[in-house]
Amino acid sequence: MSELVRTLCPYCGVGCSFDLVVDDNKVVNISPLKDDPVSEGRPCIKGFNCYQIVHSPDRVKYPMIRKKGKLVRASWDEAYKFISKNVKGLKPRQIAFYAAPPATNEASYLFQKIARDILKTNNIDSCARLCHAATCYALKNTFGITAMDAKLEDLAKADCILIIGTNPKATYPVAFDKVLRAKKENNAKIICARDWEDETCKLADCYVELKPGLEMAFLNSVLNVLVREGKVSVPKEVKEVLEGYHADKVAKICSTVKNCFFTVEDIEQVARLIGDSKKFVLMHGMGLTQHAYGAHNVFAALNIVLAKNGKSVPMRGKANIQGVGDMGCGPTGDGETISASIFLDPVKFLYVMHSNPAQSLPDLNKAYKAMKKMFLVLQTTFPNKTMGFANVVLPAASWAEQEGTFTSAESRIRMTGKAIEPLHESKADWVILDELAKALGKDYGYRSSEDILKEIKANLPAYNKINIENLKNKGSEFAYRPVAFRKFNPVKFPGFEDPTSKKYPLVLTTWRWPFHFCTGDMSRHSPTLEKLSPEPLCYVSVEDAKKNSLKNGDKVKITSKVGNVIIKVKVMDEVPQGLLVAPFHFHECLINKLMPLAYGPIVEEPNLKRAAVNMRKVK
Ligand code: SF4
Repeated sequence: MSELVRTLCPYCGVGCSFDLVVDDNKVVNISPLKDDPVSEGRPCIKGFNCYQIVHSPDRVKYPMIRKKGKLVRASWDEAYKFISKNVKGLKPRQIAFYAAPPATNEASYLFQKIARDILKTNNIDSCARLCHAATCYALKNTFGITAMDAKLEDLAKADCILIIGTNPKATYPVAFDKVLRAKKENNAKIICARDWEDETCKLADCYVELKPGLEMAFLNSVLNVLVREGKVSVPKEVKEVLEGYHADKVAKICSTVKNCFFTVEDIEQVARLIGDSKKFVLMHGMGLTQHAYGAHNVFAALNIVLAKNGKSVPMRGKANIQGVGDMGCGPTGDGETISASIFLDPVKFLYVMHSNPAQSLPDLNKAYKAMKKMFLVLQTTFPNKTMGFANVVLPAASWAEQEGTFTSAESRIRMTGKAIEPLHESKADWVILDELAKALGKDYGYRSSEDILKEIKANLPAYNKINIENLKNKGSEFAYRPVAFRKFNPVKFPGFEDPTSKKYPLVLTTWRWPFHFCTGDMSRHSPTLEKLSPEPLCYVSVEDAKKNSLKNGDKVKITSKVGNVIIKVKVMDEVPQGLLVAPFHFHECLINKLMPLAYGPIVEEPNLKRAAVNMRKVK
């Protein structure tokens, strides 16, 4: 007789719920839930196949410590002692903690508590630094909250949706279903601004092709038209900045970019569609945020939202990344971001929970030089590239083997259920952290993850009002964060991060595939997903393929000023001349080696979307 255990999808921040089917202590399938308000019984292909990763033969099975250059099996006690020995005596600024989902809220809370309370460091960050830190900063300065001001359901109610810098049809299909519902039921106009004609653009009413880096100029020019035509009003200081963004001026900036097809008519058409709407929603992703001036890009987009009294739905990346941030996994006070802790002033001790910075950071060759000198602890379920730099590896139970709560992108808090006991020698994340705290001399007295949830509820204003009993009874609660203010933030286009040149004439950008997730740590352990997307491919325009005598499957060497990779190509009609599009899911082809280091002084979210490169065919 199978048992059903209610859980949440471990992949993305949309936060679908379903049951795991457990047979004889094995997770054998998922069973969708028609009454799940998020997925409505239709999780995407990643969710449908998430059960496959639990019993993967490739899990990290036991603790390991590095001896004479090699990771060797160790006991839990030995591992904790090794960590204690190497962190004690370090100054707070020499220590950094780096969190990520699918760690639960409870584990994330304890993670930062150990850093702040025991090791006295504020150098705590999360993988949000590499995806939506810019969004959080912009939302905080626009609405006074660090989460989206809307609910996913607002997409379905919209009559006009601007999708910019994201491909939700492929990467957040469940959220995109709500966009399609808006189109069907409200005749909503879908505008897609993107650097190539991806799956989402093909379904849009209006597609504007933007080279990576032109987003802010484009958004300012759209608002300029809206203001000039009297469709919206904005404060005087915003109007003054917008003066520099007349559509013809912006189109002129674009005309200086080779093969850029975005025109005055494009800007005017977008402004007309937005201007005529009554329920406008912005949906943005990492095409806006993963730039040195990502927060400014988001400000430009949110200025339109404010002017239209609309809503914004940022497509937050990983499941529970909202919760990881809510729990305090972000620098405060004198704390440093992961960008600074790796590149600017490298720390001596780095604790990584469920993340893979050795694949996700920019300028990886430079990052590796710093990481090699650190004492690195990796708490992970699956082996990853970062394990090659780890001095201690702690086997974390998979999400299906531990209970706790996740907070989705729309701030919906729900329980993840424990379907089976932790496999091999792995332990639940909060248990590992609690035992480590004891090894470091502090016993917090937790007996369950619920004890930590109670402390979260008591300490975090946004979580004060949650009803734990309701969560245990499979209900949803929402973090409470009312919009505090509505403030415009005028911004100016600063120029491109990595301009093309004679030596590097092409622009390479990164994107996510429908069948893999982030650095592939989980999705590549699903045989179904791996079969659908077994190897990295770089998309090349028909023109560039012709120029370089390339056909599908040929290999090219792509070189930027900081690195090179070899990758197979796929020739695509949808990709404009001058652009290369490659995924970052594959450790076999570390595409972020090509990304030169560039991040702004406030948010420190690095550019991961634009590298000037050249390409040549290789055997
Ligand atoms: Fe999982 Fe996101 Fe797909 Fe939902 S949309 S099933 S949360 S990956």
